[in-house]
Parts: sequence; C-alpha cells; structure tokens
Amino acid sequence: MAKILRVNMTDLTAKYEDPPEKYALWGGRGFTTAVTYHEVLPTCHPLGPLNKLVIAPGWVSGTAAPTSGRTSFGGKSPLTGTIKESNAGGLASQKIARLGLKGIIVEGLPKEPGKWWTLKITKDGATFLPADDIAGKGMYEVCKILAERHGKVAIIGIGPAGEMKLTNAGICVNDTENTAGRYAGRGGLGAVMGSKGLKAIVIDDTGGPGVPIANKELFDQGRKKMADSSREHAITKKDGALNSYGTAVLVNILNEAGGFPTRNFSSGRFELAAQISGEAINAGVKERGGEGRVGHPCHPGCIIQCSNIWPKPDGSFHVSVQEYESVWSLGADCGIGNLDDTGELIWLCNDIGLDTIEAGNTIAIAMEGGLLKFGDAEGAKKLLAEVRTGSPLGRIIGNGGVFTARALGVTRVPAVKGQCMPAYEPRVVKGIGITYATSTMGADHTSGYTIAPEILAVGGKVDPFAVSKADLSQAFQATTAFIDASGYCLFNAFHILDIPSGMEGMVESVAGALGTDWKVEHIAKVGMEILKMERAFNEAAGFTKADDRLPDFMTYEKLPPHNTVFDVSNEELDKVYG
Ligand code: SF4
Repeated sequence: MAKILRVNMTDLTAKYEDPPEKYALWGGRGFTTAVTYHEVLPTCHPLGPLNKLVIAPGWVSGTAAPTSGRTSFGGKSPLTGTIKESNAGGLASQKIARLGLKGIIVEGLPKEPGKWWTLKITKDGATFLPADDIAGKGMYEVCKILAERHGKVAIIGIGPAGEMKLTNAGICVNDTENTAGRYAGRGGLGAVMGSKGLKAIVIDDTGGPGVPIANKELFDQGRKKMADSSREHAITKKDGALNSYGTAVLVNILNEAGGFPTRNFSSGRFELAAQISGEAINAGVKERGGEGRVGHPCHPGCIIQCSNIWPKPDGSFHVSVQEYESVWSLGADCGIGNLDDTGELIWLCNDIGLDTIEAGNTIAIAMEGGLLKFGDAEGAKKLLAEVRTGSPLGRIIGNGGVFTARALGVTRVPAVKGQCMPAYEPRVVKGIGITYATSTMGADHTSGYTIAPEILAVGGKVDPFAVSKADLSQAFQATTAFIDASGYCLFNAFHILDIPSGMEGMVESVAGALGTDWKVEHIAKVGMEILKMERAFNEAAGFTKADDRLPDFMTYEKLPPHNTVFDVSNEELDKVYG
C-alpha cells in the first residue's frame, strides 16, 4: 500500500505512515483536501505553525495512463484564507507515485528562521540537505544547480517570492527540459513552503516500487479508451488545436466573443490580440527555429502536448510556456501586445516564483493606479524585477492584486475571495462568473470550466449570456474535483466531454488502479465529496454566502463591446451549493 511521508520542519524528521482510513481512497486534490480538512485548523494563520503543505500525485499518476502527470499542492491559502489546491504538470507527480508515496505532508516551522533546506526523497528514504547556498536564487538557476548535484530528478521549489512569504508566491516544478516551466501558481502556496524553510524538494525514483494496479484488465481498458478519445478529438489530437497552437489558441476565440478582459477588465476586446495569439506563437516558433517548439509535453506520457518553448529572435531558449492565461494576464490585461514582452514577463514570474495570472492582474491594477501606463512593457518588467529586491514596492506587488489595489486606492479590483480573475470576462460568459463567485478557491477558471459549452461548444452548447447556470457550474465543479484527484490533466476534459467512451475510460482507469466499482455516474458524486470538505473548511474559516459574489463594479459597469453587466442573481449564485 502506498505510504504517506510526513515531514516535520521543526525537528527535521521524516517518517513513513500507512494512510488511515479517512485518506485511504484519496489521491491528488482529494488527498490534499482531505488532509487539510482533517488536520489544519481553518482559522489558523496560513504562514504560522498550524498550516501544512500537502503534496500528492493523482490516482493514476506514475502509471501508463496518458496525460496524467499532475501534482496537487494544498493547504490553507495565504492569498484567499480559504482551502486551496493548485496543481502543476512537470516531472514530480510520476516520480512521487513511483516511489510508492500517496502524498507528502510538510508541517511545523523551522527552529532557526533564515535557514533553508532541500528535502531529498529516494527509495531509501528522505534526507534534509542544507540549502542556504541556493537561497535567494531564481528557479532557473536552482533547477540547473540541483540537476548538476542530483542528476535526472524531479524538482519542486520556490523562488525569492516564496522565501519572502509573499502571498502571490507559487510552487515550481521542473519540466522535461529541466527548466522552471511549470507552476502550481494560484493561492500563494509558495509562501507556505517558504514559511517552512523549505527551498526545494528533490525526488529520485530510481529503484522505486512503482504504482500498484488493483485490476489491470480494467485499468488497461480504461487507459486505452482515454488515449483513443484524446487522439480523436479536434482539440486534443496530434496537430489539433492544443498541439499546434497551445492553450493560447483561445486568444482569438475569446477576443472575437468580446470576453477577453483587457486593460484591467475595462473592455472585452484587445486590438492587439492577434499578436499574442496561439497562431502568432506557432508562426514565431517556426520562423525563428532553433530551440523553439510547439507540441511540447510538460511531462513524459502526455499525448496532448499543449506546451511550447518560445525562442529569442536568434532561436535560443527564452521561456516555456507562453500559454493562454499568461499571455492574457501579462499581455492584454496590461495593454501589452508583443510576444517577446510577454515571454520576458513570464520568464520573470517563473524565475522569481510568482503566479502569472495574479502578477498580470497586479500590474494592470498598478497601471490603473497610475504607477505606470497601460502598454508600458519595460515598466512592467521593472515592476516585476522589483519583487526580487524585497523593496517595499516589490513586496506590495508580490502580495497580489487586492493588496496592491489597497496600496494605490484602486477600486476596480477583479477578484473573488482575494484572488484575481483569470482570462474570461464574467460579464460576457456568465457561467464562468458563477464559478468564479462560488468556487472554494477564489476566482478560478479551472474549478469549473463552463467555457467549454459556453464558448467552445464542447460538452453541448450553451448561450454565454444566459444567467441560469447554477446547475451547469455545479456539475463542472464536481467533475473537475474528480479529475483533479485523478492526476489526469484537466485538458483531457475537452475530449471526454464529447466522446462518451473517453469519459468511461477515465473512470475505468481510476477504478482499475484503485480496485473500486466506480462508473461514470460516480464521477460527480465523488467530486462532490471533495467539494463538501472544501466548503466545510471555508465555512469554519469564516466564509459565508456573502463571499460568493463578484466585485460590485461588474454589476453596474457595462463592458464594451457588448455593453453587458454581470446580472446573475444572488439567489442563482446561492443555488450552486444550496
Ligand atoms: S496537456 Fe499541456 S498542461 Fe496538460 S500535461 Fe500535457 S503539456 Fe502539460
């Protein structure tokens, strides 16, 4: 049976435990949520000794299931004060799972503040290595140094932002090129890792026991259905939309729909959108050649391969990955329409250890507050670089959009429960607005991606302007919680929503791995169990239905070009969790 590795940063001990009954069945987000729900005091300070950082591979991570290498990170969020799960691709999940680990629970605060550690995990156990020599360094250099020392390992780490315990600090996972390309960005969990004096975790799965499969026949049947479905759908197949253009294929689509938030959510259209689109990324990569790539996997075994490597004009590596949320937040939302500028801004976030969605929103708010002008790419780079210095201004920016808005007296703040919104305008796409408002995580598109039927006609077709969508949002939130527990990348949703055998394949592969009798009808039920724990944690932390609301400016400020407001009633919002 897979073990739990419990790490105490106060006395520097690490012990292996058999999972108790209450955790036995959970993986990924299910595990991080269950541990946070059962072990973390909901009212605790997120950066104090009572919070924990929980790390977990999904149910089928580390197996031959396709596109299933997500690692979940969880705990109480310093950004939102809610429970939080944020997951990332990269190398960590498969290696943790193949070492026979169900999850890692990091607890306690260091006895000596200012001292840093790397936790190294191998088949022989976990050891603490001094990390003072890599403290203060950016994640690109940290990945390089740790790979030189430890070989082909998975690396989980924090940049200077996490060390400073800034509430927009993310947790980095190295990718297939061993660069700092993948982030569990949302919710400030990098600050939780920083509070514990943990600069990095190095995972070497050489000689590990692998992942047990309870019913191999069912598992193989399920993973094959998943792979076939993924290879058939226009969005996920080879040379399909994601493989060719990456997630930034959405730029032109959302811009055309008038739902592409621009200049701090003051318009739904950006006149330079085409210049930062997936099509422009594809063309730029082909034109520059060299190290540039599209159709790049963030971990071995991903068959969708939505990632890319953006090259500098001379073809050398610049950054991975220019994806939709990042080119939007650091591009359109700041009035910046150039891929070399967004590339550099993403690189800075990856190196300093910041979530790109929150960072872009923060710069846009600073632009609205008069600190710099919309479209000022060089000013934006200087502002991000300031975070690394630890100056008072840098610390304001590094604490995210709501904090920065307070410092500058800005009232138009596109955030829910302290977390800024992703790249979809809720005044145009109302279902995603319901998800932003009611998600257990603050404004988060991945909590319940209703964009699929509202904009992409995936999983049905729904009018984006319709306002009665509590049921739709709830169904997406529950299904997503199941996918986040499985380890499957959420982009699998595009094919399994349209191809019934794909959905069957997902649940059969999970049931085969775990030895359960789950069928398609269990997906929402199991997902809802996760959501109920999350809602209960948030309620105990003091959140009420009054927190399940969008910022008021969106209810009265008409958004061009459609000149619509967010007019979903509070009653409809409250129906999601009735
Ligand atoms: S589809 Fe994209 S984000 Fe998902 S695992 Fe593959 S490369 Fe990573």
